[in-house]
Amino acid sequence: MHGLMMNRPLLISSIAEHAARFHGDREIVSVTADNPRHRCTIRDAVGRSRQLANALDKLGLSHGDRIATIAWNDYRHLELYYGISGAGYVCHTINPRLFPEQLIFIINHAEDRWIFTDVMFVPLLEKLLPQIENVEGFVVMTDEAHMPETSLPNVVCYETLIGAESSDYVWPELDERSASALCYTSGTTGDPKGVLYDHRSTVLHAYVAPAPDVMNLSSTDCVLPVVPLFHVNAWGVPYSCLMVGAKIVFPGPKMGDGAALFELLDSENVTMALGVPTVWLALLQYCAGEEKRLDKLKYTLVGGAAVPRSMIEEFRDKHGVELRQGWGMTEMSPLGTCNSIKAGLESLTDDERLDLATKAGRGIFGCELRIVDDDGHELPWDGVAYGALQVRGPWICSDYFKLEGGAGTHTDDGWFDTGDVATIDPQGYMAITDRTKDVIKSGGEWISSIELENAAMGHPAVAEAAVIGVAHPKWTERPLLIIVRAEGQDVSKEDLLAYFRGKVADWWIPNDVAFVEELPHTATGKIKKIELRKQFADYAFPD
Ligand code: ADP
Repeated sequence: MHGLMMNRPLLISSIAEHAARFHGDREIVSVTADNPRHRCTIRDAVGRSRQLANALDKLGLSHGDRIATIAWNDYRHLELYYGISGAGYVCHTINPRLFPEQLIFIINHAEDRWIFTDVMFVPLLEKLLPQIENVEGFVVMTDEAHMPETSLPNVVCYETLIGAESSDYVWPELDERSASALCYTSGTTGDPKGVLYDHRSTVLHAYVAPAPDVMNLSSTDCVLPVVPLFHVNAWGVPYSCLMVGAKIVFPGPKMGDGAALFELLDSENVTMALGVPTVWLALLQYCAGEEKRLDKLKYTLVGGAAVPRSMIEEFRDKHGVELRQGWGMTEMSPLGTCNSIKAGLESLTDDERLDLATKAGRGIFGCELRIVDDDGHELPWDGVAYGALQVRGPWICSDYFKLEGGAGTHTDDGWFDTGDVATIDPQGYMAITDRTKDVIKSGGEWISSIELENAAMGHPAVAEAAVIGVAHPKWTERPLLIIVRAEGQDVSKEDLLAYFRGKVADWWIPNDVAFVEELPHTATGKIKKIELRKQFADYAFPD
């Protein structure tokens, strides 16, 4: 027997309409290439999304067609999120920092019909043009005064396109399982793979993110997503913030600039900011150098890569900011776990709290977790046993776009294998020990590169650290520590290696240290281990 509740579809357009009605006056602040501080309201942005939807409906597209965006975080990109998905098309966000071959692959694989681009990516698209011939037209996201000279065919100015349209629009009542957005994983191995979100998964994810133990968001908050709108939908912020009516501050192209981020956080009274660890390194370095304190920020949600203990400590002790670690993936919309203190743990000492905060966090309702051994048997949640981390839930991908099971990432009993290796403790806190492919296999045992990196980051002379496994004649592999020294600091190999004693098991201590000027990063700011392994392919440990 069914219950007697209305079966209303969960649609992205309803978030926009709810936000315009109940939080219409809330501000959206953006840094853009044509305006250092653009201000508008949620009402304005939703009205302009409706104008955009009217314009899109005249392009002869069918529901489900892909429309790409290549743009930084700003209000126009937010309008695309709602205008494209709300009108029934698929908003395909593209990471402009990918290699040209990857961009060409992604645009062709997605069969993007139109591309909306920031002015600064026009030259890039001109270069790609001969290989993306199926794209019918390009919309440059600026006004007529800032339109660039370009050889791109069928080019339209965004403000002119939507300026001709009414802000009245009746959003189609779509099936909630209709595709809404598409995002390709970085593809560190093989071709990038497309994750196709739907309205239902997006709205469910948007409901859960503002919960107190996750992002803790309400209408009184002001949120700065440093995580790009092209990186897993900026972790869902564009949806959750409008759902609760939080103010949004978009940093535009100023993502990795410590001084610019500090100024935005301070002047706009930002209470919550989100991003990968590398962007916070830049901010913390700026604050330390200029003796600035983050007085207004309350929380940062940091994820996408392991978070060093020293970073959590610096946020807490120097700035009074709670760093919450989150874990997830493009395939997971992305939230899987988030780390906050749960009832019964309030009496932990400051040090114990720091230890706990280095874990990826507890499972969020809606995302089931399990760890399994090589034979697929479930492992205990004792904080010691580690195995392949698998997940299941309504905002986890069931397949990749046009791969039809070919990726081999799902188990026969319906779980998604994340490619991460993890432990889960009796309280339910999960800790990532490694990516399956980064684990160091030494004498039949596993060493966690992440734990070694975290330990190294605690040393004051270390600005950034990476650990990779290097072939060893006796042990198969042994860890090599690769370090970028902090500015003006010197430290010897011996001192660094001695620093690990007591922090990790003795047999985990790296065999050697290499000093480099900088580490290679992926387009989303993570350390590119694959590149490091290539760089050190000929390296041999000293006898
Ligand atoms: P990509 O970087 O390949 O585009 P994602 O952004 O989806 O893909 O990254 C997902 C991966 O990032 C996870 O599988 C995990 O390895 C890593 N990751 C995310 N959050 C954390 C975390 N808190 N600690 C350690 N690793 C993390």
